[in-house]
Amino acid sequence: MVTLTDEQRMLVDVLDDIAREEFVADAFSHDGFPWENVRTLAEHDLWAVNLGEEWGGGGLSEFAAVLAIETVGAVCPETANALYGQTMVAPRAIEMFGSETLKEEYLPPVCAGESAIAIGISEPGAGSDAGAMETTVEETDDGLRLSGEKIWLSYVPASDAVVVWARFPDGNLGTVLVDLDAPGVDVHEHYTNMAGHTQSHLFFEDVAIPEEQVLVRGKRALKEQLKALNWERVGSAAYATSMARCALEHAIDYAGDREQFGQPIGEFQGLRWEVADAVKEYTAARALTHDAATNTRGGSDTPAHPERLRASLAKFHASETAESVVSDCLQVFGATGYQQGHPLEFLHRLARGRRIAAGTDEIMRENIADEVFDGSGLPSLG
Ligand SMILES: Cc1cc2nc3c(=O)[nH]c(=O)nc-3n(C[C@H](O)[C@H](O)[C@H](O)COP(=O)(O)OP(=O)(O)OC[C@H]3O[C@@H](n4cnc5c(N)ncnc54)[C@H](O)[C@@H]3O)c2cc1C
Repeated sequence: MVTLTDEQRMLVDVLDDIAREEFVADAFSHDGFPWENVRTLAEHDLWAVNLGEEWGGGGLSEFAAVLAIETVGAVCPETANALYGQTMVAPRAIEMFGSETLKEEYLPPVCAGESAIAIGISEPGAGSDAGAMETTVEETDDGLRLSGEKIWLSYVPASDAVVVWARFPDGNLGTVLVDLDAPGVDVHEHYTNMAGHTQSHLFFEDVAIPEEQVLVRGKRALKEQLKALNWERVGSAAYATSMARCALEHAIDYAGDREQFGQPIGEFQGLRWEVADAVKEYTAARALTHDAATNTRGGSDTPAHPERLRASLAKFHASETAESVVSDCLQVFGATGYQQGHPLEFLHRLARGRRIAAGTDEIMRENIADEVFDGSGLPSLG
């Protein structure tokens, strides 16, 4: 496990205190984006920890954001979800690729905990195969125009704008930032997923895109965006490991209280070993996440980003671990954990999504195999 600096340890301690004092009571009763918690973190300057200080962010590293997601999520996974989305996904793309004007307009409200930004990559005909997307940006006499549709978007009801992936006239994939209330944007339908979260289907019809709303385009655009996506995977891994920890904390507490056969169930070896196995998986997932977040590549012209191999290993293992650990912890509660409204019941539904969102398990396997056989090889020893 990576050794934390004093500053990182302090970050974890402060976030842990805030989460356990202020988020625990409502941790499993949020309906939608947990704005109150978001604002509390923003007031403590602990919300957009890795976004630039000039926009009101914390100016810390992405690894600090990983620590924040893990720590908050151990208490309130809904707040970790929001934190993950707003530190590692769309706002980060704006910070990486946007013009100064765009950053000045969109990032301060995000850092203040007043606004959120969604991301639109998936389409009905292009999920894992993002290269098959049909949303386009066309060059017209009136400037750039966006047309197409995006599906399964998280955070749309909470968001003011969306980062949209689209094909440009040169054939390359790029991204544009679109206000959700811009003419031609139609929030066509909201779906409710297993965890009770909204996922939205958006249509774009001839939406005017001013040049400054283009985040990235051209020959290198896809490569740059894929590097940024590796941060999304690491963020997803942190979010998933936080669910495993949250489940373990609840299960260990309960195992100490609940008595059967005249003793706490936590004294039965069969149950202790099950929990020990779950702790092993959780710790391994967390180590892989930290490994991916700290072994980054970058240079003078490329912001630091995780290696695809390490990010995929972390995302894959953490997603599987969240699901299996949560399920094992639900088992510790017996029928109690199986009831609607119980934290473990919610975590069970929540964790399942990680094996699909931000790249499925199968696509992570593909990435890992690609790197091992045809790319960087096994993770470096040095
Ligand atoms: C909770 C949640 C939040 C999400 N949020 C967003 C969001 O904010 N923005 C957004 O754009 N999208 C979002 N998505 C969508 C997500 O990115 C896609 O669901 C994901 O990329 C998979 O695409 P798909 O659902 O179309 O499945 P498909 O790509 O159709 O895959 C179906 C199955 O086939 C498998 N498969 C596909 N290709 C291969 C292959 N080459 N080898 C082996 N197996 C393969 C997949 O792994 C999967 O098991 C979200 C999804 C979830 C569940």
